[in-house]
This record gives sequence, structure tokens and C-alpha cells, in this order.
Amino acid sequence: MDNYTIFFLIFFILASIAIYFLYLFEKGDKLKEINNGICPKCKNKSVEIVNQKSHGCSGTQEITIECKKCGYKDSFTISNNGCGGGSCRI
Ligand SMILES: [Zn+2]
Repeated sequence: MDNYTIFFLIFFILASIAIYFLYLFEKGDKLKEINNGICPKCKNKSVEIVNQKSHGCSGTQEITIECKKCGYKDSFTISNNGCGGGSCRI
């Protein structure tokens, strides 16, 4: 292996990590808005949860939301940490 290959590999890994964190940050920001009922697209308070799926005690929950004004649709997977107490059914 020459130095160039190693440099490229390190750069690629760092770039992947940066993109991953950016993605997480953007998702988290959107989630905050949606939690307040605000559509990330048209900024109206018209977001509703249309589908909610729980994956049992594995701790993840899939939520699909829809904006009643502009039709924006998105789904999120939320990790549910409140599953330890044995009350994981909604
Ligand atoms: Zn909207």
C-alpha cells in the first residue's frame, strides 16, 4: 500500500462520518418541528401522525406523519428507551 491509498481511505472514512452526523442533525431538527406539529416543508401547524408501528420490545418505533396542508409525508424510526419497565405495548 502506498501513502496515497492510505490518505484516501482516511479521508473517505472521515467524510462518511461527517455526512452521517449531518444527516442525524438534520433528522433531529425535523423531528423537533414535527413534535410541535409543524410541517418542515410549509411551516404550517398541520402535521398529523397517520401510522404508528411498534417493533415490540426491540425498542424501535416507526412513525409516519403527513401534512394535511401540502401533503408532505415522512417516516421516522424512533428508539424507545422506555421499554425496560415491561410496559412496552401502546
Ligand atoms: Zn406542509
